[in-house]
Amino acid sequence: MKPKKLAVFGQTVKIRYVKDLVEKQEISGDYLDGIIRIDADLDSKLMYLTLLHEAIHALFDRLGVGQVVNGGVEEIICDNIAMLIYENFELEIKKPRPKARPKPNSDSN
Ligand SMILES: [Zn+2]
Repeated sequence: MKPKKLAVFGQTVKIRYVKDLVEKQEISGDYLDGIIRIDADLDSKLMYLTLLHEAIHALFDRLGVGQVVNGGVEEIICDNIAMLIYENFELEIKKPRPKARPKPNSDSN
């Protein structure tokens, strides 16, 4: 299952699956302005590695890490944390929570 959004410290990050990202831009994914783009045709391993990598970029963006870490270092951190998670954990995307329904009026007595 391909997730359509991630929560990054309470902020929603949308995920778009884009055709031919690898062929046209020579990237498997990117993160920009609150949106993660992933090549639509990656195999499962590369999709998860790319998604984790871009999610870490989104987290760093949220935390302002780019102000103290240069881009090259951030790429190495994102690649290696993504690989560490992929190698050691079973990855499963959480199902979205059902929206809260208003409770029936219980204080009418
Ligand atoms: Zn990156």
